Parts: sequence; C-alpha cells; structure tokens
Amino acid sequence: MVISASTKLVGIIGWPVEHSLSPAMHNAAFAAMGLDWAYVPLPVRPGDLPQAVAGVLSLGFLGANVTIPHKEEARELMDELSPGAELIGAVNTIACQDGRLIGHNTDGIGFLRSLEGKWSPGGETVVILGAGGAARAIAIQLALAGTREIHLINRTCARARRLAEEIEERIGVFARGYDWTAQDLDRIIASSSLLVNATAFGMGDEGEELFPYHWLDAGTVVCDIVYTPRVTGLLKGAANQGCVTVDGLGMLLHQGAAALEIWTGRPAPLPVMAKALEDALEAD
Ligand code: NAP
Repeated sequence: MVISASTKLVGIIGWPVEHSLSPAMHNAAFAAMGLDWAYVPLPVRPGDLPQAVAGVLSLGFLGANVTIPHKEEARELMDELSPGAELIGAVNTIACQDGRLIGHNTDGIGFLRSLEGKWSPGGETVVILGAGGAARAIAIQLALAGTREIHLINRTCARARRLAEEIEERIGVFARGYDWTAQDLDRIIASSSLLVNATAFGMGDEGEELFPYHWLDAGTVVCDIVYTPRVTGLLKGAANQGCVTVDGLGMLLHQGAAALEIWTGRPAPLPVMAKALEDALEAD
C-alpha cells in the first residue's frame, strides 16, 4: 500500500485495538477494489470518545468503525442514526457525509448474513446466551427479520429480562430473559433451531465441559460469535452432538462488508476479505 497526499482514511476506534483484525480485512478490500484508501487503528481511551469522533470529522476521514468499549456512547455523538442503530442503541459504523456523522450498526446484519445457507429466521425459535451489546444487536436483528420466539439466557438475569421486554414492546416479538437457574431451559434449548453464544465468555478448551450439550437437538444450528479460538469448546461440543456449527469469523466478515458497502456504495469483495481475516487470525 502506498500512502500519498490523496489517500483517504477510514479507521477503527476502540480500546484496545492492537489485536483488531479489521485493518487487515479492510485494507485488503480497498486494494482489491482499486481504492486509494487506508484503514488505520485509532486507539481511544475511555473518556476520550467525544474528541476522537470530532477528530474523525475534522481530519477528513470518510468514516470509521467503533468497537468495545465505545459503541453505546458513540450513539450519543452522531448527527443522525440509521433505524437499526437507533433500535440497537449502539453504533459500530460511522459514515462522514457532508460534514455530518451518520451512525449505523452492522453487527446484527453481519450476524444474519453469516448464517445464510445454514439457517433462516422466519418463524423460528432462538436461544441467545448473553445480553450485552452483541447479544442485543443480534436479538433485535433476529426480531426484525421475523424470528418467532427469542430466549435470552444471561449470568445477570435482570439484563436479559430488560432486553426481552424491550424487544416485545418495541418490535412485538415474543421474548423472555432468564439466568441459568431458571426452570425449563432444557425444553427451551431442545426446541430451538438456533443457539448463539454472544457472551464474552469464549468457552475455549477450558470451557468445553460447561454447557449441557445433551440438551441440544441435532437439528439445532449452534453459533459462537467469539472466534478465538476459532473452534470454541461450545462448537466442539455441539458438533459432537451432531449439530451444524458456525464460527464467529463470518459475523466479523459480514459486519465489515456491510460497513464497507456503506462507505463505498459498492459490493464488498467477500473472498478477499475472508482470506485476509483468516491470514491475520493465523498470524495473531
Ligand atoms: P458486552 O456488552 O461486554 O457483554 C458481555 C456479555 O458476556 C454479557 O452478557 C455478560 O454477562 C457476559 N459475560 C461476560 N463474562 C462472563 C462470564 N465469565 N460468564 C458468563 N457470562 C459472561 O460485550 P459484547 O460487545 O456483547 O461482546 C461479547 C463477545 O462477543 C465478545 O467476546 C466480543 O469479542 C464478541 N463479538 C464478536 C463479534 C463478531 O463479529 N464475531 C461482534 C461483536 C462482539 P453479564 O450481563 O452478566 O455481565
């Protein structure tokens, strides 16, 4: 990549960002698209987001991604929100347009696209483990896409219940929140066609024994959005149970592709981006 005086910039705002795979994915895409653009890490400490977001605009960036821990606060700093970002209450993609900051959220869309060909939401029952930012984006996108029932299981029950109530009130889809002490979880999990781990708890090798795999029906698709390790303990256990499994790299790829399409107005070169992600993950 050659940086010149005419190179346009995009970046990722987060803390920390040094392990982000997004620069590798987007820079490979820009090269494949013949764009004189560069994607740079923008480490922004908690508390410094307002200045950083103002800087993105004043430095002439075309846009930015936003990651942990800034996605919720970023919403407050936008001039305009997409309907999805408004409902999710968080921004992971900023587009700078005519001196204004437009906030989007592509996490839920990315998640749904990563399941294409393996599972589709219409009329289905889903279990989501977690009730944090990612679970919220996924649950809301699933509700908007026609899922019939959403069950959220979270360490902190109140958080899962609040999210479930919001989904029912704002989108009108049946949703319930629980913690692991709730009755009937075996029946709910067995009757769901999709189970998603959206907790920060990766269930790596050490967590392989922690999930009640015998509750899973072999027809259930199991997705872990945590992608380090790429095949988590949850995915191994689910595969042993005969389930179709989906790792979290697809969500990362497709949320990035959706962001790239917002910035460029062009289709994302998915194979190039997927290869760059895999190479970067291997090198990490
Ligand atoms: P978050 O807002 O901080 O939420 C964290 C969630 O994990 C909460 O539900 C929390 O439960 C739960 N949790 C944390 N530690 C736990 C533990 N030891 N045992 C059980 N539950 C635990 O984080 P987030 O933004 O939702 O991200 C969650 C994970 O998804 C992260 O690992 C992130 O890297 C990954 N992610 C992946 C993608 C992708 O593209 N593949 C996209 C976004 C996020 P409490 O409510 O009880 O605290």
